[in-house]
Amino acid sequence: MTLAAPASTPIVDEFAAAAARPLATLGSLGKSLIADLQAAGFATLGDLWFHFPSRFEDRTEVHRIGALRPGLAAQFVGVVEHAEVTFRKRRMLLVAVADGSGRLVLRFFHFKQAQAEQMKTGTRLLIYGEPKPGNYSLEIVHPRYRVLGADEVVEVEGALRPVYPKTEGLGHARLQRAIERALEQVPESADGPLAEMLPPDWPNLSAAVRKLHRPRDRAEVEAIASGEHPARTRLAFEELLAHHLSMRLVRARVRSERAPVLRSSGRLRQRLLAQLPFTLTAAQQRVLSEIDGDLARSVPMLRLLQGDVGSGKTIVAALAALAAIESGMQAAVMAPTELLAEQHRRSFERWFAPLGVEGVWLSSRIKGKAREAALARLAQGAPWAVGTHALMQDAVQFQALGLAIIDEQHRFGVDQRLALAQKGAVGALRAHQLVMTATPIPRTLAMTQFADLDVSAIDQMPPGRKPIQTVAVSRPRREEVIQRIADACAAGRQAYWVCTLIEESDEVEAEAAEKTAADLTAALPQLRIGLVHGRLKAADRAAVMQLFAAGMMDLLVATTVIEVGVDVPNASLMIIENPERLGLAQLHQLRGRVGRGSQESSCVLLYQPPLSETARQRLAVLRETTDGFVIAERDLELRGPGEVLGTRQTGEALFRVADLSRDAGWLSKARELADTLLKRDLTAAESLVRRWVGAAARYAKA
Ligand code: ADP
Ligand code: MG
Repeated sequence: MTLAAPASTPIVDEFAAAAARPLATLGSLGKSLIADLQAAGFATLGDLWFHFPSRFEDRTEVHRIGALRPGLAAQFVGVVEHAEVTFRKRRMLLVAVADGSGRLVLRFFHFKQAQAEQMKTGTRLLIYGEPKPGNYSLEIVHPRYRVLGADEVVEVEGALRPVYPKTEGLGHARLQRAIERALEQVPESADGPLAEMLPPDWPNLSAAVRKLHRPRDRAEVEAIASGEHPARTRLAFEELLAHHLSMRLVRARVRSERAPVLRSSGRLRQRLLAQLPFTLTAAQQRVLSEIDGDLARSVPMLRLLQGDVGSGKTIVAALAALAAIESGMQAAVMAPTELLAEQHRRSFERWFAPLGVEGVWLSSRIKGKAREAALARLAQGAPWAVGTHALMQDAVQFQALGLAIIDEQHRFGVDQRLALAQKGAVGALRAHQLVMTATPIPRTLAMTQFADLDVSAIDQMPPGRKPIQTVAVSRPRREEVIQRIADACAAGRQAYWVCTLIEESDEVEAEAAEKTAADLTAALPQLRIGLVHGRLKAADRAAVMQLFAAGMMDLLVATTVIEVGVDVPNASLMIIENPERLGLAQLHQLRGRVGRGSQESSCVLLYQPPLSETARQRLAVLRETTDGFVIAERDLELRGPGEVLGTRQTGEALFRVADLSRDAGWLSKARELADTLLKRDLTAAESLVRRWVGAAARYAKA
């Protein structure tokens, strides 16, 4: 007798089973806390387990002020000697505290009146914070503190205190309590389906999760922070794998649908090509045929078109759009800002009007009757549409969208880019999708960020571009640089002055830019000088940009908000102040604003000496090459992936645990494992994605 073995035995995943338990199973939490946790997006025990501390506070000791060291956060008791509210540059509360061994200043920029009144001479405070060297003594900006009772004895804590990332609508103490309760439910030593495929010396999931919440001591905290601890590596690997998988699942799902077959008859294309004042570069022709190959299939295209600033992506997009239009379907182009969308609109109108192909323009500023008319024309089958996010609103209906083109991909999330393609669904057909980006993404990064897309690259610039001269000039020579602006503008050119700051707040950045603009206005009274920064309303910012684009302004002072893709050919000089503060990729993007016209362009990197060795190397890379791909690879080596993807600027964390500058080495293994998992255990793959990419898993919406 033969027993038929089941074709596949479901893997019993004890960890996943425990992680999937709803919060309500934590009876001890109380209904209102559970409700608030749910509102904040925590649905299961696992959601709490995978909400890791961002740092730890060591309150296991009370230090003497005299023993505090700059840069080392510590807990200590200080007696208020003096407190005052001052108005130097801005309003602040200064509190001098002492303990007999030393003295230290607490500085508050944001405080309530009651807080100031609390700080009476003789008041004892229990303080936690990171001292920094100040003018006269060490000081701490915004320490955590609590007023001690007159005879209160301070009790030190038994373990390091985890500090969790801020969560909407949930105080830290409550979140901490919930996580603590949830951690009690982590299975003793369970592991997921990956275990057998991972290095044997890595801890199991249970142990790794517990370790990241509850490291034994400061040494372990440091080992985790520096990326050396195997518990961290284990989780980082899982996270990379999960992200890669989520995109692969998106891809698989989209590719299982059907798309309209779009074949260019050449009828309109020939006429457009004939009317262009240039011929396509070999690279443009190559990527166009790659796109054509995809469009001619009934599987939805998912393609990323990479090409450096100025490489000529727009005409490729327009030619691709014609393939849809010639096939009797619609094409839509979506850009992240009004200004960029406007630019596309102008190009499309210029190119398509002579062909008698009229399109629709849609932005949030199109309102009332005009908007209704635009919507009606889209619904009736207008051949093309260009616009902003407005294209994605519910009211927008296409008659038969064949191709969705999305520019400057990294500003849109995966969901958004898929949503546009989905809008056009005609019956069961889904639109093809082309994503364009000017940020060259090194291969390793593409693996986590764009694993759902095929990649085409325009790796060649149109002929006749004058290379941009890049020079590094140190701050003491600022006067010369200002003279240079005066000369360029006197010759009828325009210039940019980019202010960079590492401060986190728009406010501080805007203040600095305002000051620079005022200084430059005083130094160059003959020039018309404009200013854009992140504190301006989008419409005001666009208005200034438009004045500059129209040549009504000589010099534009800007923070790094200055648009990617802005095209002002007459601007031939760019000054970047303190370039050492920015990543190479971003500097390269900024520099791409010049060198778009026929005259020689230059970029002056006005740095603050002394430069660190890395900073020196990075500026050298910029002087030596204008090839965005070379720069991106070097950037990844020198500064890590946050820079390359531009996420550091937006402050958005890519990952909870993983850090590509450390973990990039694991990516190819992650991809290998993803292949295996997708074939062997789709459920495990999906549960991994849910765990790491979250309940709003991108694939779920695709
Ligand atoms: P990007 O890739 O940055 O979007 P654009 O599409 O805006 O670049 O192109 C930049 C400029 O180069 C435009 O003025 C465009 O008309 C022009 N251009 C595009 N392709 C070619 C080409 N093959 N030869 C000459 N000029 C070109
Ligand atoms: Mg462009």
